[in-house]
Amino acid sequence: MSQAITPYLEMSQAIMEAGGEALKKCYQCGTCSGTCPWTPITHFNIRKLVRYGQLGFDGIEEFMWGCSTCKFCVDRCPRGVEIIDIVTAIRNVYSGGGMLPQSLRAFVGSLAARGNPWSGDQAKRNDWAGQKYPLYAPEMEYLFWTCCTVCYDPRNVRIAKTTAALLNETGISWGLPAAEVNCCGESVRKVGDLDLFARLKQKNLDYFQSRNVAKMITVSPHCLATFNKEYGEDYSVVHFTQLLDKKIKEGKIKPKKDFGGIVVTYHDPCYLGRHSGVYDAPRNVLKAIPGLKLMEMERSREQSMCCGGGGGGLWMEKLKGERLSDLRIEEALATGATVLATACPYCITMFEDSVRTLNVDDKITVRDVTELLLESMEINIDESVGDVCATD
Ligand code: SF4
Ligand code: SF4
Repeated sequence: MSQAITPYLEMSQAIMEAGGEALKKCYQCGTCSGTCPWTPITHFNIRKLVRYGQLGFDGIEEFMWGCSTCKFCVDRCPRGVEIIDIVTAIRNVYSGGGMLPQSLRAFVGSLAARGNPWSGDQAKRNDWAGQKYPLYAPEMEYLFWTCCTVCYDPRNVRIAKTTAALLNETGISWGLPAAEVNCCGESVRKVGDLDLFARLKQKNLDYFQSRNVAKMITVSPHCLATFNKEYGEDYSVVHFTQLLDKKIKEGKIKPKKDFGGIVVTYHDPCYLGRHSGVYDAPRNVLKAIPGLKLMEMERSREQSMCCGGGGGGLWMEKLKGERLSDLRIEEALATGATVLATACPYCITMFEDSVRTLNVDDKITVRDVTELLLESMEINIDESVGDVCATD
């Protein structure tokens, strides 16, 4: 073996050892790049990234941050290549040498120092709750796992509040995690810092074990998918829309306020839909609201477009014309909807940003499914989430 080739093979081997063994299965058909939502709007090319990974070539840096881990290509690859594992492994191998993009450094640094990506004070994780809700104790049925984004991000704190208010209506016993818990670690795993992910995860597992946690409810599909796929099989985890769907069917949750024909379209978050297979529950919740007319976008359910916030995308800067969330807002507007509903705090952040930058805030409003349901139940929470339809 020549000395010139050896380093390339070493890099390829390192990628496989970091979890990218699937490199070996790819035969370069290009189905992935043909279906990736970034292909038409950026120079990112997933087939080339995989090829460079196979060969360990220089130039990989050009493509390694382009993927938002939406899973569209994985579901279509004829060889069943776990493409997201390859992306994660490449990021792990290549970003170890200080190649993390500037925009990701604060996010990773905050996770390492404070256990959350928002530079929030860990001791203040539950401040949004204002001591209104109990901490989880072993005699309770559910731990309400509050994603870092709904604890610290001012817009998404409203989702923590609406979810807690709805949980109180369901009749189940539930509690909040202690402030000492960490981020579930999903995003940092996808940007390739596998050691930090392992540390965050272990502290959470210690907490779960110390409180005998068996059942969890999440508001973020990213936490849902991570607990279900990366934390082992000792926990039963559901997304909040699944619990709400069940409680509406049991008659425990009763939407009241008539939305008077308001048109709503629903965006399937990648980590709730393709990653977790949950498509019907959020739609059932919306359909239970009197007078709400649900219109589907052309790309929905398994075909849903990505908002661009996964895989660290929420913290990365994108140029105008290179944002999937902008395209998705245009698709939502094409349905005639005045409300875009979704069920993920990352999607909410990406879409509200696009609504502002596209200057269409007089045409469409972005809401979490829980916010619409709470409005229909006419329950007041401390801070108004803003009604989407006029009250009589
Ligand atoms: S679709 Fe699968 S086999 Fe085809 S190029 Fe992409 S990763 Fe390789
Ligand atoms: S997971 Fe999604 S964003 Fe990433 S390469 Fe595949 S299709 Fe593109």
